[in-house]
Amino acid sequence: MASPFDLTGRTAVVTGANTGIGQAVAIALAQAGANIVAAGRTPPVETAAAVAETGAGFHAIDADFGSIEPIARVMAETIDAFGRLDILVNNAGIIRRAAALDFTEDDWDAVMDVNLKTAFFLAQAAARRMINAGNGGKIINIASMLSFQGGLRVASYTSSKSGLAGLTKALANEWAPLGVNVNAIAPGYFDTNNTTALRADETRSRDILARIPAGRWGQPSDLGGAAVFLASAASDYVHGTILAVDGGWLAR
Ligand code: NAP
Repeated sequence: MASPFDLTGRTAVVTGANTGIGQAVAIALAQAGANIVAAGRTPPVETAAAVAETGAGFHAIDADFGSIEPIARVMAETIDAFGRLDILVNNAGIIRRAAALDFTEDDWDAVMDVNLKTAFFLAQAAARRMINAGNGGKIINIASMLSFQGGLRVASYTSSKSGLAGLTKALANEWAPLGVNVNAIAPGYFDTNNTTALRADETRSRDILARIPAGRWGQPSDLGGAAVFLASAASDYVHGTILAVDGGWLAR
């Protein structure tokens, strides 16, 4: 019997797959058999090599998701490269840190545009394609602990990730009947560029670690299993969930 986690023959678009969590998710999906389209603004050189080792197909698309302009091209190039689109991982994201009293419009707009606006319009374009093709599909948004909590000095990031959690549920309600699963993964505190400032701050870093029951920060590869689950037939009856992969952080 085929594994319910098998992704052979599927095509996954992963945004921001050149590094960090997006890279690890792309590699995990490729290991499960999916062809990978890596869409982002930095050439995904390492990711291309790691995906090639799995034997899966790989295609890179140069796209700056600070606006929704590249979305039509990402969809068209994906179909040109692999003939289908089954999985979208909305991973590309940024964070800007400043006291709320000093927060600028640019720090608000830049974060909301990449983390929420582009994620929505990518999901819309992908779902249109998936529904028209008639094979269903899987959309996975990368949320955050700040989809549940407030955080400190990250007003726009928290707003974007709380918004993304709400959007995940809203889209699930509309698209579950049409065969598209929309879910999110909420990573805890992971060792990537996104958390460089936190890890450099001794007090914040120590306080965060002290609250993680698993006793360590997450490594990007810790997210691979959750991504494969939400991308595969194993999650066909899972809709609108925000799956925390957090070393137990939210359980505290
Ligand atoms: P990261 O290493 O900073 O990766 C962010 C990715 O998004 C990079 O590939 C980055 O490309 C891409 N990106 C940002 N702005 C973009 C734009 N305008 N156009 C195209 N690509 C863009 O951090 P990460 O931790 O892996 O972050 C991945 C996702 O996980 C983000 O949504 C983040 O909010 C979320 N997350 C992270 C943590 C954590 O603890 N690390 C926790 C919860 C959620 P460049 O390399 O070119 O900048």
